[in-house]
Amino acid sequence: MKAIRVKQFGGPEVLKLEEVPDLKPGAGQVVIKVRAVGVNPVDTYMRSGVYPRKPALPYTPGTDAAGAVESVGSGVTGLRPSDRVYTATTLSGAYAEQALCDPALVFPLPAHVSFAQGAAIHVPYATAFRALCHRAQAQGGETALIHGASGGVGVAAVQLARAAGLHVVGTAGSDRGKQLVTSEGAHQVLDHSAANHFEQALAATGGRGYDVIVEMLANVNLGRDLGILAPKGRVVVVGNRGTVEINARDIMTRDGSILAMSLWNATPQELASIHAALVAGLENRSLRPIIGQEIPLAEAARAHVAVMESGAYGKMVLIP
Ligand code: NAP
Repeated sequence: MKAIRVKQFGGPEVLKLEEVPDLKPGAGQVVIKVRAVGVNPVDTYMRSGVYPRKPALPYTPGTDAAGAVESVGSGVTGLRPSDRVYTATTLSGAYAEQALCDPALVFPLPAHVSFAQGAAIHVPYATAFRALCHRAQAQGGETALIHGASGGVGVAAVQLARAAGLHVVGTAGSDRGKQLVTSEGAHQVLDHSAANHFEQALAATGGRGYDVIVEMLANVNLGRDLGILAPKGRVVVVGNRGTVEINARDIMTRDGSILAMSLWNATPQELASIHAALVAGLENRSLRPIIGQEIPLAEAARAHVAVMESGAYGKMVLIP
């Protein structure tokens, strides 16, 4: 089979498509025939070697794949060849034609959800769910600002927050992105490249501020987020690419909280619970992964450049 292999950390050019031996499941494992692969910003951080979590070289990148079960090892129950599934991490890497998986991290893909959409579930939706529900403990009737709502995690957060009954304001940096945020359910959309968008965001709540802010770029926004929190408001840092200065008085006077999360910290039990909720949301169509771009697996290097550019529109997926 073909797989992307990384033999040294570096720029996108270190992603090389190679012929590698076919995978065979050991006891308690499954092999998935991969039909689509999610590209996440974290894949680029890992590839560059600057991320705290460093895979042993050489490795195949990626955690989010969707496809059909190809073969199951002894002792595996509940999964059969040809079942449509998506993965929440793999043992062998997702940027490949096959992926070896722990069956506990393989979930059913409803018939109406495409493989490309299946590859857009784990990192974006599990992150958004953990940020909103586990960390912020968002409640129906509260107000939420999804700061960076046009990308993978942002679209997921908008759909989840709407389904949970929150009043949702989302931000994007392009006209296309703003249209997407509106069509996915935000009550109002703002442009995070506008200098006065914090004033607009506060005005959108009648001056009360937000109960929950999901923050995709904390190094740029966290200081000003604290000034638009409601009393007892919670900011959850999901994305951050540098350092930031805050005035702690802004959060002190509101009895507010700065929370943060990394999906890597989710326990197997949390992941099982999160994905049970996500599969239910896919089934009842309140969750609808949006695919902005499909790129051939062989062009993974191009995808790693594109995923870091502005003008996000849902998810980018690789097609083997
Ligand atoms: P993505 O699809 O590339 O989207 C990036 C988002 O950030 C877009 O909506 C983009 O908007 C927005 N953005 C750009 N400039 C912004 C600004 N000044 N203020 C607010 N938002 C801004 O990435 P993603 O997969 O959604 O991930 C978002 C971030 O969360 C990334 O940094 C990623 O590494 C991180 N993340 C963390 C975890 C975790 O476990 N903590 C998990 C997943 C992702 P425009 O392009 O429209 O300007």
